[in-house]
Amino acid sequence: AEAALRQAQKMEAMGQLTGGVAHDFNNLLMVASSGLELLERTSDPAKRERLKTGIRQAVDRGAKLTQQLLTFARRSPLNPEVIDLADRLHGMDTLLDRSLRENVAIRFDLAPDLWPVEVDASQLEVAVLNMALNARDAMPEGGTITITARNERRAEGGDRVLLAIADTGVGIAEDKIAKIFEPFFTTKGVGQGTGLGLSQVYGFVQSSGGEIEVTSQPGQGTVMCVLLPRTTKRPPAVAAPTAARRTEGR
Ligand code: ADP
Repeated sequence: AEAALRQAQKMEAMGQLTGGVAHDFNNLLMVASSGLELLERTSDPAKRERLKTGIRQAVDRGAKLTQQLLTFARRSPLNPEVIDLADRLHGMDTLLDRSLRENVAIRFDLAPDLWPVEVDASQLEVAVLNMALNARDAMPEGGTITITARNERRAEGGDRVLLAIADTGVGIAEDKIAKIFEPFFTTKGVGQGTGLGLSQVYGFVQSSGGEIEVTSQPGQGTVMCVLLPRTTKRPPAVAAPTAARRTEGR
């Protein structure tokens, strides 16, 4: 959960970065190019030195900006492990609570005896957090987020564990649904959304061999449904029984 929190902070930093980066970068280019122009017309050595320093600073700052973007954009390598989804979701309780508003309630509906899945646990947490934050943002007037997990046996696709994040928010217009997983697609204001949250979720689901389905009713709410393949590998032994905590609402 701490990794997810760090990632959330990283996402926030990224939001500020993408919001301001084009603008900042353009300003730096302006500084450098007008500095060069002046340099060509100046013969005074002291002035030339000052101009050169200004240009160098602008270029260095530009390089640093793009470096930050590149560092963020590099996907961290997958580190799959066999996990119990219910345990992981319970472990995110505090993080989710801290991320929500007072008027947003969170309910867990976790079936007992979930099949194990093999995923990168920290990427799973980031994905759940991203979807929960979207759900929160879709409910400015408040509402409920329901996190469901259950085993799914479908004729097509084999045994899978379903993880759904449902909200009672504004919903997504039909013509937007196809776009929401695209990087940088956002309907949130400048400096608010990065448009990277769901593309990250999509990347996680793909690399886990899963699928994601969206159902949305404008004015009613949205359900993001992730299907993860059941693994036949056994999960590592757990220290304490968790069955009692598996199904609970709040
Ligand atoms: P961001 O949250 O930065 O905008 P995302 O990739 O996470 O980026 O989401 C892209 C867009 O998808 C959001 O701006 C929003 O319009 C839409 N969206 C995602 N989840 C929901 C949801 N639960 N309810 C309504 N709209 C949503």
